[in-house]
Amino acid sequence: MEPVHIVGAGLAGSEAAWQIARAGVPVVLHEMRPTVETFAHRTGDCAEMVCSNSFRSDDDVMNAVGLLHWEMRAAGGLIMQTADRHRLPAGGALAVDRDAFSAAVTAALQAEPLIDIRPGEITKLPSDGNWIVATGPLTSDALAGAIREVTGTDALAFFDAIAPIVHADTIDMSIAWEQSRYDKGETEAEQKAYINCPMTKPEYEAFIDALLAADKAEFHEGETAGYFDGCLPIEVMAERGRETLRHGPMKPVGLTNAHKPQEKAYAVVQLRRDNSLGTLYNIVGFQTKMKYGAQTQVFRMIPGLQDASFARLGGIHRNSFLNSPTLLDDHMRLRPRPNLRFAGQVTGVEGYVESAAMGLLAGRMAAAQAQGRDLPPPPFTTAMGALVNHITGGAEAKTFQPMNVNFGLFPPLEDARSGRRGRKDRYPAYTQRAKDDFTAWLAAQ
Ligand SMILES: Cc1cc2nc3c(=O)[nH]c(=O)nc-3n(C[C@H](O)[C@H](O)[C@H](O)COP(=O)(O)OP(=O)(O)OC[C@H]3O[C@@H](n4cnc5c(N)ncnc54)[C@H](O)[C@@H]3O)c2cc1C
Repeated sequence: MEPVHIVGAGLAGSEAAWQIARAGVPVVLHEMRPTVETFAHRTGDCAEMVCSNSFRSDDDVMNAVGLLHWEMRAAGGLIMQTADRHRLPAGGALAVDRDAFSAAVTAALQAEPLIDIRPGEITKLPSDGNWIVATGPLTSDALAGAIREVTGTDALAFFDAIAPIVHADTIDMSIAWEQSRYDKGETEAEQKAYINCPMTKPEYEAFIDALLAADKAEFHEGETAGYFDGCLPIEVMAERGRETLRHGPMKPVGLTNAHKPQEKAYAVVQLRRDNSLGTLYNIVGFQTKMKYGAQTQVFRMIPGLQDASFARLGGIHRNSFLNSPTLLDDHMRLRPRPNLRFAGQVTGVEGYVESAAMGLLAGRMAAAQAQGRDLPPPPFTTAMGALVNHITGGAEAKTFQPMNVNFGLFPPLEDARSGRRGRKDRYPAYTQRAKDDFTAWLAAQ
């Protein structure tokens, strides 16, 4: 049987290789480290964790990432098995001894007779065979160039500039209102495409003070600040002048407060729909390097967002990722070159767990293809299915930015209480539905 080739032995590539070998299909796993280095990796080991040593919450009832752990364990995932064996005490989080963890993943892959780990950088996209590209946020320059040749220059980004994303049902619509600037658009839906949060002058001044005083994260060494064109962090805009934001993303023009039509807002924060379900909204133009704790405090100062719950907070990082909603089909294959599947962070998911989960899925799909079977994606009521559905179609392609798993990606449950207060009932219902559906998906293979 022809082997499946995987480029990159990171979190995604290692998990994909394991799944393919377990299905009885041979694998060649290509890894460029340590011959070619990245600014973040330190070793030549597989599945190196480049920064924190945490796989985040392990709560599979109340937390979407904990649910993803559950699904990966149910699917016999190498990353979760190894993490469980090298677990460190960390409260409800799954933290690991990082060196022991990646050494154990490497040893497990080396010991697997169907896996051939081949050192070396892949610089071209092969035009035939069954390939998975899992080269991560620091995809080598040569391969990034080859991807851009096939997909077009705008389709592979080198930085993410993430604006915070809010769960729609936690926005206070007795303060905010729906309206596009100057009521632009043909249909009513387009004319009401944005949610607007008004600010008075004192509220705006207090917001600017808080922005200027907030704790900010630094860039990693070697992570150049070439992001500055067109996507300045809001705190940098505020540093350039207290009025800059009011003339930029917070300009109050072309909008009438539906609750107080006579009152002219001094500034307006706009939120734009982020997924086709309409459960998530991003704060327009609010990319930021503020630390996470500071972001929650500062953004809850915005009238209408005082009780907001965030599906993800903002950030700016070096990150190579595809515009997956336009480029990948629901089997994670590159539309112009279906012999290539993509997996991991390069597909526009964010985080160790999400990347490994996409590796697990791509591996199972590639193995099925090698055996002449078709494996449909898991239903999007599951964490894995919700994530792959988001990146391959559910997300807005124009504003696509990397995404963590979160309950806003799940189809809403009828009868469930909305808002932050309803979470105690809603989240266990989401996770139970996901577990039932994931179990059925596994059993059907
Ligand atoms: C500086 C930094 C800090 C981060 N911190 C965190 C964090 O704290 N928590 C978190 O959850 N996520 C973090 N991330 C995101 C993290 O990188 C991903 O979550 C995870 O590593 C992605 O897994 P992956 O398998 O897609 O990519 P990686 O784990 O990066 O694996 C990709 C692999 O492909 C190899 N490769 C690249 N190009 C080629 C090529 N042409 N030929 C052969 N091999 C190639 C690389 O050497 C690498 O081993 C961080 C990312 C960066 C850049």
